[in-house]
Amino acid sequence: MGKIVKSATGAKPMFFQAELVRVMDVMKHVYPNQPNLTLAERMGSELALCPECSDNRWWLLPKTASAVREGGKPYIECINCGFTTHM
Ligand SMILES: [Zn+2]
Repeated sequence: MGKIVKSATGAKPMFFQAELVRVMDVMKHVYPNQPNLTLAERMGSELALCPECSDNRWWLLPKTASAVREGGKPYIECINCGFTTHM
């Protein structure tokens, strides 16, 4: 996704939706400069279970999402229950 620029005052509202694309190697994707970091270290175990519902399918929030902008860390949201945490 390209950079989303601020719309001009008085312009029509713009809405965007993210398309889910599976990330095959999430650690390499999120931490390309830390090859020794493991999913277990970041998420408690290699299964990376959601603490709320025990699902383990996660949506990596886009960098333009507010949670990511404010925290500066990659945020993820459980696809099943919406629980949000950071990697
Ligand atoms: Zn969950």
